[in-house]
Amino acid sequence: MEKILEVKDLHVTFRTYGGTVKAVRGVDFHLNKGETLAIVGESGCGKSVTSNAIMRLIPDPPGKISNGSIRFKDKEITRLSEKQMRAIRGVDISMIFQDPMTALNPTLTIGTQLMEGLQQHRKITPTQAKAKALNMMELVGIPNAEERLKQYPHQFSGGMRQRIVIAMALICEPELLIADEPTTALDVTIQAQILELFERIQDATGVSIILITHDLGVVAKIADRVAVMYAGKIIEVGDKREIFYESQHPYTKGLLNSVPRLDLQGEKLTPIDGTPPDLFSPPQGCPFTARCPFAMEVCDKVYPVTTARSTSHKVDCWLQDERAKQLLATAEK
Ligand code: SF4
Ligand code: MG
Repeated sequence: MEKILEVKDLHVTFRTYGGTVKAVRGVDFHLNKGETLAIVGESGCGKSVTSNAIMRLIPDPPGKISNGSIRFKDKEITRLSEKQMRAIRGVDISMIFQDPMTALNPTLTIGTQLMEGLQQHRKITPTQAKAKALNMMELVGIPNAEERLKQYPHQFSGGMRQRIVIAMALICEPELLIADEPTTALDVTIQAQILELFERIQDATGVSIILITHDLGVVAKIADRVAVMYAGKIIEVGDKREIFYESQHPYTKGLLNSVPRLDLQGEKLTPIDGTPPDLFSPPQGCPFTARCPFAMEVCDKVYPVTTARSTSHKVDCWLQDERAKQLLATAEK
């Protein structure tokens, strides 16, 4: 499989009056062409910071990509100039945010906004630009496109606005689409429609997608692979089946247990007790130690080695280590 993106040992820090926040602490992952990778975790775990780093949208100062590599096709993103990045953003890599209103200009028609990006980056006549805009409206499922292009954002519902934002993100035919909580601001039925739209778009265009979300329902619906982040690290990664049915990390299991399941109506949800560690001075060992029912002495002191359970499934937890299992077995006797 062709890798379109490869992130290695990514570190992102933010300087504040209170000290330096280590928001992303050595993250590795890759994205294959045409697949959807979901990055999940609670707010503050570093998932949005990671996606902003790929777009080089970390405000510097106070933020900084302090170490690591982000390889997009043959380009090392961390080394590009701002001018080179401007040629990539919205063209090769596009991003969609939670609130569609912030992405749309209330004073311009939808048609103008759709065609603007295209005309900035492509040598194209106004007629060709309009044809492409109509085409995109159709792709994202907005009827009466010819009329709708003349209207302003406030004339559309929230769900329709998110469709327009998606059309804008796709109009230059990017190879990578990053969607940060793209359905969080929408009501449940509209959410389902937008998720179906992502699937349809991926089938039609072959775009690779990074989906940032805290919602495992969204993940279950459209992800191929899942990376679980906690306290600035990816603590477990695997294909969807491995994460939903064979998860190994106590944090991933906790996340799954705190989600309502259709097949277990009436069962009590068990949210994970406690809060994530302070990222001003993150623990040197496993960051989940304070909340983990299985924590051992080693956990607090040494960060767990990464165990590969399959070519796709990797876990950072001492429970995976044979020596730890033996210790547990003797303790339980
Ligand atoms: Fe729990 Fe230890 Fe595994 Fe961390 S390494 S998740 S504290 S068992
Ligand atoms: Mg976020």
